Amino acid sequence: MERLDSPREPQAARRSITVLGATGSIGCNTLDLVARHRERFAVEALTGNRNVERLAAQARAVGAKLAVTADESQYGALKAALSGSGVEVAAGADAVIAAAERPTDWVMAAIVGAAGLKPTLAAARRGAIIGLANKECLVSAGSLMMAEITRCGATLIPVDSEHSAIFQVFDFANANTVERITLTASGGPFRSRDLAQMASVTPAEAVAHPNWDMGAKISVDSATMMNKGLELIEAFHLFPVRGEQIEIVVHPQSVIHSLVTYIDGSVLAQLGCPDMRTPIAVALAWPHRMVTPAARLRLADIGQLTFEEPDEIKFPALRLAREALQAGGAATAVLNAANEVAVHHFLAGAIGFLEIPAVVEETLAICERGAATTLDEILAIDGEARRCAGMIVETARVRRASLAFG
Ligand code: NAD
Ligand code: MG
Repeated sequence: MERLDSPREPQAARRSITVLGATGSIGCNTLDLVARHRERFAVEALTGNRNVERLAAQARAVGAKLAVTADESQYGALKAALSGSGVEVAAGADAVIAAAERPTDWVMAAIVGAAGLKPTLAAARRGAIIGLANKECLVSAGSLMMAEITRCGATLIPVDSEHSAIFQVFDFANANTVERITLTASGGPFRSRDLAQMASVTPAEAVAHPNWDMGAKISVDSATMMNKGLELIEAFHLFPVRGEQIEIVVHPQSVIHSLVTYIDGSVLAQLGCPDMRTPIAVALAWPHRMVTPAARLRLADIGQLTFEEPDEIKFPALRLAREALQAGGAATAVLNAANEVAVHHFLAGAIGFLEIPAVVEETLAICERGAATTLDEILAIDGEARRCAGMIVETARVRRASLAFG
């Protein structure tokens, strides 16, 4: 047991790290912390997609050994941006996987979407400690991922704020004393709009989250509340509980990040100001802790914390996610793939906001989704679901165009 008078930041050994998705919101927050604690971390590799300018600047700033762009067409631009730096450069999806395979103590999995599945799996298979932000890889392939984590002696530390909260207050040694876990949801920017108002929501409105500054896809997921549905499935895989033991409560202030209820009626929660650097720090420093510049919580300044039941009529994504979890098999992989396609088309202006859950629901209804256990089977179902969802979007577009003509 750690002594109460032990130093505030115990001297942990220097940790070698790789950041997958370094150029995104989570990646930038991770590197912000690394820059504040240079003595604690040695950066092996950073990966990004198209924003090679940012990737190159990050690699120079933290002295990374390798920078990888997932987009092969950006190889030349990245090479030029890093010329004279001594940073090795690579490009392509396989190079991202190879970066994850490099022997480091710790990996941040912060690629958005199922694109993060193979690299995260690669880090798991070499037994790394993984800070997991990329929830989609658990929604798509949770059983496979968790089995590989156990088989290969890897460690998964959740970065999603709700799961980080539960991780911090869950008594893993006495899991049978946990009665339920409660995920809090901000309710997103459209919590108090009615359905008619939600129909005309624009991509710009949907990506402007009231409490958190995040990437475009997760911001839209928060607005449809699919994010909470994905998190329900994520929690099911991360913690030893049944689906029925996980509940969701809307808490617009995002101060209580989640709660665990024990069989004696005790409820343990983790609180903090909404700043992703706190849960990222929990994962980066685990099993120790590290100082962050996150604003400190002053409850008297906040005054009131409020709670309400989620509205599954306005936010059908919650129901779809719960049904997919109950259905089991590859249903959650279909849910995830269809949602990625629908969000992509919404952001491109091709479908309306309310069509996002509608596309997901229709894809779940028509797409073949038997059991999927191997990575190849999961990827095949993911591909088929993307094809179905794309077809549904296209049919809706043609119908709309013909109505406009008619
Ligand atoms: P983001 O869009 O800001 O960043 C995504 C990162 O993934 C970027 O570095 C991008 O270059 C990279 N990327 C995109 N497509 C890729 C591809 N095909 N191959 C390789 N790399 C690719 O997203 P974000 O907000 O940082 O979220 C990242 C993940 O973390 C998501 O799964 C999200 O659900 C999760 N998450 C984010 C937050 C948050 O506050 N931003 C909170 C909880 C969980
Ligand atoms: Mg979250």
